[in-house]
Amino acid sequence: MDTTVIIGNGVAGTNAAAALRKNGYEGAIKLIGEEVALPYQRPPLSKIWLREPARPNPTPIRPLRFFEDNRIELMRARKVVGIDRTAREIRFSDGKTTKFDTLILATGASPRRLDMHADLKGVHYLRGLGDSAQLRGALTRADCRNIAIIGAGVIGLEVASAAIEMGKTVTVIESAARAMARVASPATTNFVTQKLTDAGVQFLFNRKIEGFGADNHHVSSVNLSDGAEVKADLVFVGIGAAPNVELAQAAGLDCDNGICVDEDMRTSDPGIFAIGDCARSDSKFAPGKLRMETVHNATTQAQIAAAAICNKDRPAPVPHRFWSDLKGMKVQAIGIAAGYDLVRSNASQDPLSLEVHLKSGDRLVAAEVVNLPTRQAALAKAISPMVSTSAE
Ligand SMILES: Cc1cc2nc3c(=O)[nH]c(=O)nc-3n(C[C@H](O)[C@H](O)[C@H](O)COP(=O)(O)OP(=O)(O)OC[C@H]3O[C@@H](n4cnc5c(N)ncnc54)[C@H](O)[C@@H]3O)c2cc1C
Repeated sequence: MDTTVIIGNGVAGTNAAAALRKNGYEGAIKLIGEEVALPYQRPPLSKIWLREPARPNPTPIRPLRFFEDNRIELMRARKVVGIDRTAREIRFSDGKTTKFDTLILATGASPRRLDMHADLKGVHYLRGLGDSAQLRGALTRADCRNIAIIGAGVIGLEVASAAIEMGKTVTVIESAARAMARVASPATTNFVTQKLTDAGVQFLFNRKIEGFGADNHHVSSVNLSDGAEVKADLVFVGIGAAPNVELAQAAGLDCDNGICVDEDMRTSDPGIFAIGDCARSDSKFAPGKLRMETVHNATTQAQIAAAAICNKDRPAPVPHRFWSDLKGMKVQAIGIAAGYDLVRSNASQDPLSLEVHLKSGDRLVAAEVVNLPTRQAALAKAISPMVSTSAE
C-alpha cells in the first residue's frame, strides 16, 4: 500500500493529513510529531493562555477521534533525525525507521535566540505549550513587576498586551523604527502602537541591545547600546523565528531561508513536499519568494500539497490572511503589505476601529482592519493576484 509520511504534526501537517483523506487518498498516513500533546493551535499561547487565571487546556487542531476515524496514524513524542532519500525511509531518534512513498515536511520554525544571555534565568522565548506555561507562571509571580520585551513583532506585542493587562510595567525595545514592520503597513502599526501606549506600554524604537544585567544569575535589566538601562524582572525575546530546515538540508534538498518549493509545494525531490512555516515559495500576490508564518498559510499550503499528491486540480490562489489580538483590538491583515504606492485609511476612535487599503494603481494589494471582523471576507474577494509579467 502507498504510504505518505508527514514529519511535523502542527497545523500544516495535521491539515495535510486531513486534506489527503478529503481528496480520497486511500494509502496509509503517518503523522509524526516530537511533542507529546495532541496537535494543538499555537495562537492562543501568546494570547488567552497568558491571561487566563487557571491553566487552560490547549485547543486541539482536531479531536483524537478524527485521527482514528480517518485512519491517520498519529505518532506523538517521536523525533525524526534523518531522511534517506535513496532508501525512501526516515529514521527516528531511537534508531527505528519507516518507509515512505511520499514525504511531507511540516517541521515548522523555532524562535531566533539571542546569544548574549547564556543560561540567565528570567529570559523567555515562546513557541510551544511548555514555553507558554513557563511564561505565564513567571508573569503571575507577585515579585515580577517590570517586563522588558525585545522585539515589537506580533508575538512581542501580544505578550506586551497580556502583561499590561496583568498590571505589569512593560517596555518594548525594538531595533527598527516601528512595530510589526514585517507584517503590516505603518498606518496600522502606528494606530496599534498608539493604543498600546495609551494603555501604558512604553516603546523604545531604533534601539539596540548591548547585554543584560543580572542579580544572582537572574536577569535584572536590559542594557542598551546608547548606555540606557531598562529594569527587568522578566525579559521576553520575540525577534522572529527561523525555519526548521536541518532534516531537509541534511537530505540534500534545496533550502534558502526555508525549504524551497514549487507551486505544488514540491521540493527539489519530486516525492517530497514541504509546507507551513518551514517552506518558502513564490506567491501569486507579491513579488519574490516568501516564507510565511501564519495559520492561514499553513492550512492553504497543506491543501495544495494534498491536491498535488492526489492528482487533483490545484486550489485557486487565495490572498494571505493573518490576525492578532492586542489589548481589545482584533487586528486582521489580508494580502501582503508590499509593493503598494497608495494608502487609504479610515479610523474611528469610538467605537475603536480602523480600515486601511493598500493599493498599487487601481489594484488593491492588501488591506488591514482593526475591530471590523466582518470586513475580512469582502476585502479578500477584492484582492486579485498579480498579473504575470513573464512570457508564458
Ligand atoms: C505563540 C504564537 C502565536 C501565534 N499567533 C498567531 C496568530 O494569531 N495568527 C496566525 O495566523 N498565526 C499565528 N502564529 C503562527 C502560527 O501558529 C504558525 O504559522 C503555525 O503554527 C505554523 O504551523 P506549522 O505546522 O508549519 O508549524 P508548527 O506549528 O511549528 O508545527 C511543526 C511541528 O513539527 C514538529 N517537528 C519539527 N521537527 C520535527 C522532527 N524532526 N521530528 C518530529 N517532529 C518535528 C514540531 O515539534 C512542531 O510540533 C503564532 C505562533 C506562535 C508561536
